[in-house]
Amino acid sequence: MDSEYDYKPRTVSKNVDKEFRLGEGRISGFCSLFLGILSLLAVIAYLYPSMLTTTELRKIYDAEQLQQVLKYGMYTSIVLGILTFLLNKGAYKYLGISGILFTAVAFLLGGYRIPVGPVEPAALSLGIDWLILAFLGSIFIFLSLEKLFPKYRNQLIMRPEWDVDLFYFSFNHLAISAILVFANYHVSHFDWAVSASFQENIRSIPTIVQFVVIVISADFVLYWEHRAYHEFTVLWPIHAVHHSIENIDWLAGSRGHFVQVFSERAMVMIPLYLLGVDQAALNIYVTFAALQAVLIHCNLGISFGPLNYILVTPQFHHWHHSSEKPAIDTNYSAHTVLFDRLFKTYHFPKQHWPASYGTTQRLPRTVIGQTLYPLKVWLKRLKTKHTA
Ligand SMILES: [Zn+2]
Ligand SMILES: [Zn+2]
Repeated sequence: MDSEYDYKPRTVSKNVDKEFRLGEGRISGFCSLFLGILSLLAVIAYLYPSMLTTTELRKIYDAEQLQQVLKYGMYTSIVLGILTFLLNKGAYKYLGISGILFTAVAFLLGGYRIPVGPVEPAALSLGIDWLILAFLGSIFIFLSLEKLFPKYRNQLIMRPEWDVDLFYFSFNHLAISAILVFANYHVSHFDWAVSASFQENIRSIPTIVQFVVIVISADFVLYWEHRAYHEFTVLWPIHAVHHSIENIDWLAGSRGHFVQVFSERAMVMIPLYLLGVDQAALNIYVTFAALQAVLIHCNLGISFGPLNYILVTPQFHHWHHSSEKPAIDTNYSAHTVLFDRLFKTYHFPKQHWPASYGTTQRLPRTVIGQTLYPLKVWLKRLKTKHTA
């Protein structure tokens, strides 16, 4: 079947007007603005840490050391703002001015000198710290990789709908505490299945083997959850939001209906909870899963060679997002290709990449439109059922 399909390359045309070029003030303007916004957010988080930071994350980082990072971020925002102003007399100069203004407000609120003390843990909080660290980390790792080894060199950083995906990215990180509260509540229903002796046996095996056990168990749950979202007509409109991306990169992977974001975390928590692995194995898994989830969406032309036969790689997952017939409803796995192989949903023509991404029926292009999309579809189906 596959050998008969006429694979075509995807073309991304060059957009000279929107390209980032050195010396125009555009790069410095955007950097100044983003650093200004992040600095202000960080300062607000330092002012109200119990409401605006993540308990789990505070255990890992040193808030006082991060104040030094904030200090350099604030000064860099101002320097880049001034540079923008010097380089550009046109519209970009407003980016620089805005960056300086955000940073100035951050300074007025106390800047990097806000005293850091013990924090009262709150049941629910906004993960501003998680948002800032993940954003800076992703830019540092994934955006750099995309610029060094792009699959589509002409694809812009600010490609169509980058702002929509930035909203999803921010929401998913800010809502981390609500997601964890929901996921923990969900797994509490599985107390009956916990076996102390089984968990003890699991913890007695080497950490790296525990990690492999988690990857396979989590992959099994994620595979079937993902497949259900595709194959049950009632669930598809929720997952279709993730598939509405037409330009895939590190940021695009964040796009997903909040119902899917919450349900995915809650489901993957079941095997983690039942296995009762060591904290070290769990930490390796969480880091691996978070990095892989972003990596597989990247605009990355690196050949992963033999790893393609074991792990889910960008090319494999890009095929999952293809709107071409042979790729529809294939490649559900999140971590390894094992279950797609086993359950016959594997589609990976290694010589080719998809010619187009997206859904066959186009979704609304705004966050509100996409959030309400499942409701719209369900109501429409109900109506046609009643009039039939
Ligand atoms: Zn999917
Ligand atoms: Zn995806």
